[in-house]
Amino acid sequence: MKTIPYGHQQIDGSDIASVVRILKSDWITQGPRVEQFEQAIAGYCGVKYAVAFSSGTAALHAAYAAARIGPGDEVITTPMTFAATANAIVYCGGKPVFADIQENTLNISPEAIKKKITKRTKALAPVDFAGHPAELDTIKKIAREHNLLVIEDAAHALGSEYKGKKVGSFSDMTMFSFHPVKAITTGEGGMVVTDRKDFYRTLKAFRNHGLIRKPERGAWYYEIERPGYNYRISDIQCALGLSQFQKLDRFVKTRREIVRRYNQAFRNISEIILPVEKAYARSAYHLYPIRLRLELLKTGRRKIFEALRNKGLGVQVHYIPVHLHPFYKKTFGYKKGDFPIAEQYYERAITLPLFPKMISGEIRAVVRAVREIIARYRR
Ligand SMILES: *Cc1c(COP(=O)(O)O)cnc(C)c1O
Repeated sequence: MKTIPYGHQQIDGSDIASVVRILKSDWITQGPRVEQFEQAIAGYCGVKYAVAFSSGTAALHAAYAAARIGPGDEVITTPMTFAATANAIVYCGGKPVFADIQENTLNISPEAIKKKITKRTKALAPVDFAGHPAELDTIKKIAREHNLLVIEDAAHALGSEYKGKKVGSFSDMTMFSFHPVKAITTGEGGMVVTDRKDFYRTLKAFRNHGLIRKPERGAWYYEIERPGYNYRISDIQCALGLSQFQKLDRFVKTRREIVRRYNQAFRNISEIILPVEKAYARSAYHLYPIRLRLELLKTGRRKIFEALRNKGLGVQVHYIPVHLHPFYKKTFGYKKGDFPIAEQYYERAITLPLFPKMISGEIRAVVRAVREIIARYRR
């Protein structure tokens, strides 16, 4: 039996042809495809600038660096995210300060953010968990009141909408990831979109060793004002990205259709809580995380997770709360109990397979397996 993974890329003949075309051209890196891909995503999000990177994590690092996060600075973020959101703050010498999540959307709580603001807070870093936008207007308002920047980790949310507008158009800088399980892929890759020219310039220099060209002093001449990294993405990758981008809206539509089928199939299973979508949101549904109501079950999450795996479902858990990783406990003194809503969610969470390439038979297999396993362990 082949396992149905929790996420999977969808690559077709036109994607392959686009990549092959670049391989036969003069530019396999730092050529025209990078900028074309950046312009496509910036246009889609309705912002002026975009800078593509070798990964979403590199893009986040660059965004925090452009925001001038440094030693002693605090960035408020959610514990319910992939570790990269917080790790990249640490790269800059900053301190990730976590604020607990909302029970329903699983996104950072604006009320919890307010309580964490200190004189050292420099930025807020919300994550659009599973594709559902965070409360972006409220978060922006808090940021403006306290003179903070908003750096949004939208790795899950390319194609998501908040109050009818695309994610990417709300925060000072918004990061996307093009890892194969994300909305569209470049193999590895990421991007920051922004409306601010100063950030755009810094991001571009940061991607390429910190190098700033001064053509007035000669065509060869450049200066390093602040060392950057080699975080460049190739034309090969961006050719794939551009080709994938053509299909983004279709991918999102298919994900939403699968979610509709899941919601319909699971609505009467009282032992599980399904993802919610607020009226202001249109989620791109990167993930479909369900929550177990353990009080109605004879066993814990682990047994149910393993039983689903044994049925051929590549279920996952998103995520181990970041503050519970040894590094964060040791370095910043976080401990179990600090963020009870995130921790409670984590102990009950299972992510079911969801990706646009899923065929009807696979969707039915997931539904059947969930029904069967829940029935087996029902109290
Ligand atoms: C995928 C992901 C990242 C990192 O993206 P990469 O492209 O894999 O480096 C960051 N944050 C979140 C929430 C993610 O899901």
